[in-house]
Amino acid sequence: MLTSAILASIAFCFPQAGTIPPAASPAQAPNVQAIVGANLIDGTGSKPLLSSVIVVVDGRIQAIGKLDGNKTVTLTGEPLSIPAGAHRLFAKNKWIIPGLIDSHVHIDEVLDPAEFTQYGVTCVRDVGSRLSSIQKLRKRASSDPRVPQVLWMGRNIDEGKASWWGAVAAKNTADVPRVIDEMERQGVDGVKLYVNAGPSVTTEVIKQAHDRGWPVTAHLGKTTPLHAVLAGIDNLEHVSTLFLQFAPAANKSTDADSWYKGYASAAGANPHSPEALALLKFMARRGTIVTPTLISSTLPVLGKAAADDAYGDWAEISDAWRTDWARPYWDFMKTKGWKRSQIENAKLAIWNYNDYVHQIIKNGVPVIAGTDTPAPWVLPGASLLVELEMLVKAGMSPLEAIHSATGRPATLMHRDDEFGIIAPGRVADFVILNGNPLTRFSDIHRIAGVYRSGNKVPKSSVAVQRTESKR
Ligand SMILES: [Zn+2]
Repeated sequence: MLTSAILASIAFCFPQAGTIPPAASPAQAPNVQAIVGANLIDGTGSKPLLSSVIVVVDGRIQAIGKLDGNKTVTLTGEPLSIPAGAHRLFAKNKWIIPGLIDSHVHIDEVLDPAEFTQYGVTCVRDVGSRLSSIQKLRKRASSDPRVPQVLWMGRNIDEGKASWWGAVAAKNTADVPRVIDEMERQGVDGVKLYVNAGPSVTTEVIKQAHDRGWPVTAHLGKTTPLHAVLAGIDNLEHVSTLFLQFAPAANKSTDADSWYKGYASAAGANPHSPEALALLKFMARRGTIVTPTLISSTLPVLGKAAADDAYGDWAEISDAWRTDWARPYWDFMKTKGWKRSQIENAKLAIWNYNDYVHQIIKNGVPVIAGTDTPAPWVLPGASLLVELEMLVKAGMSPLEAIHSATGRPATLMHRDDEFGIIAPGRVADFVILNGNPLTRFSDIHRIAGVYRSGNKVPKSSVAVQRTESKR
């Protein structure tokens, strides 16, 4: 029921380079490009600018204008001259959106980060990988447009005992400064609390992170959503964790048994209860942002058939990923050994998660798109497009869905002066589409070209092998 309902409209192959010539390689003279005639969705949530003109100099957006007949003019109608020697890319009838941001990724577990950009994801927010992995990725990203840039939330912050290899623990509230100082030395862009963090450590981490100007998110377990929201948290991961507020047994730890318990609890919960709706009204007032990660609640349970349906003929599930997900490492997110009744219960929970995301949208709680890549069947890059489709199916407007993966996460991370929107001064990360995603959202798959820092991302194979043991 769910897969066909949620993931129905998949129709187009991943396109070849088509009419768009490759960007010039970096040179001594300024590299000037003008993208002429595309309809522009700028990532701020504003209405599109039809027949736009975008001038890019040395990988940054210099000016935005529009076509007036066959003249190029500024947005106020003054003449806009495109510098001589500019490489002109005519993109009439195409649509252009900012490079997409996946706000929930585990880079340490990704086979090849170049897979993200093949589907328009030019930036990922990592939520728990090692510093060395982040440094390696940033080094590659500085010279290779196929590699996304990365924002890093540091290792997850637990309390008492780290609950997995991606976490560190503060012994207690007094130990929080040590943990936060270490994160500062490592150069995090924000921090993420994890399931073992209790209320007082949560409050202290939020306070100390905010003192340093960092945003804070959490995968909650021992602290209620309401407590975290009251303490001023910026962001909450996984719609499933919000159920802690009105289904108290949910989602306490990360082993396979508790993974099922989370579903069992959510299956019996009422996402329309007064407590459930009160939480959302409160979050809307405080502006607390949710990263629902619907896809990672869905595909690991529904498995291959649902994944084939979701990715259709536009994304490739490589053999390398099938092999990787078959490893026992991923057993904690598999339904192996579940009874039929347990699967049915999990489907009911998934229904409730979607229902609650619908309430989240309706109540004006801000959302950013994230996937939990690479959970089983959650592909780098392609999964973000599926997540966006799921958000649209849950009631989000296409414009707002694009905002949730562009300008809004960039603003949350205090980086919207740098990327996430298409505006003067920003890095020229963008995706050109062969269709209008505002009228038919599945046109988000019809990618004509992906650009990172003004360089066209070459199409590459996603059939990669794990080359080193990450754990
Ligand atoms: Zn995660």
